[in-house]
Amino acid sequence: MRKVLLPQGQSVPALGQGTWRMGEKSSRRAAEIAALRTGIDLGMTLIDTAEMYGEGATETFLGAALDGIRDRVFLVSKVYPQNAGGRKLINAWKASLKRLHTDRLDLYLLHWMGDIPLAKTVAGMEALQAAGKIRSWGVSNLDLADMRDLENAGGKACATDQILYNVTRRGPEFDLLPALASKGISAMAYSPVEQGRLPSDSALQAIADRHGATPYQVALAWVMREKHVIAIPKAANEKHVRENRDAADLTLTAEDLAAIDAAFPQPSRKTHLQML
Ligand code: NAP
Repeated sequence: MRKVLLPQGQSVPALGQGTWRMGEKSSRRAAEIAALRTGIDLGMTLIDTAEMYGEGATETFLGAALDGIRDRVFLVSKVYPQNAGGRKLINAWKASLKRLHTDRLDLYLLHWMGDIPLAKTVAGMEALQAAGKIRSWGVSNLDLADMRDLENAGGKACATDQILYNVTRRGPEFDLLPALASKGISAMAYSPVEQGRLPSDSALQAIADRHGATPYQVALAWVMREKHVIAIPKAANEKHVRENRDAADLTLTAEDLAAIDAAFPQPSRKTHLQML
């Protein structure tokens, strides 16, 4: 599995696992745990969650799902913007840890921009990091101008920007992705297979046929083609988990990439960063 080096020196797999909407229905719980643990066994050891998911239910689910294997996992969670500073940040962090049954987060992200000044969020994150309570911190859904504000607010140690990025959402390629690369900040691509709703497209299908793969695997391999991009697909179906893992070994050719560019053109102008 290809690794991505975070600015604090942590090495993480370029393919992780998302958890949005997991742990919300007891009837699906056993299958979700099996899928997640299969992914971990296959090397997809970066797990992304958030206090928002199921209003804590997903973190609680993960606390049980990761029982006994916490140390094998690079655990990422996200704080609501309204909690991202001062005492509220500490309380949110504590509540996440309690639900996750752990004593630390490997990476803690601001979920999206809110009203709390970025300098206050940075100060809170750096205090948690200095106390050893989180290993690193970052942000999510911040566009280029927000990233500049973050840097001006003292946020030079930001490890990642988790953003919506897939073949149908190529806007970040115009300016945000190159800017993150130039600063050594990783991009964590969320909804990398467009929430399971990739358009049925003849170009993706033709590439998939050439590689004996599925269009979803092609789309995932495409997201992961850049060295500083980490993809975090969510899959509760074990078959999908295995296919996603195999996509990490799929190398697209120049011909494949050109066919994707023709079907899903690169952005030719700035568009605002989209979020789901
Ligand atoms: P996604 O990963 O693009 O898509 C998940 C959907 O795709 C599920 O329905 C899954 O089905 C299906 N799928 C997965 N692998 C597949 C495959 N190989 N073939 C066919 N279908 C496949 O969407 P997402 O859950 O929105 O994004 C991933 C993660 O990013 C989230 O879970 C969350 O952790 C994070 N996220 C962050 C933000 C943010 O604001 N920071 C926003 C959205 C998401 P099954 O479950 O049935 O396998």
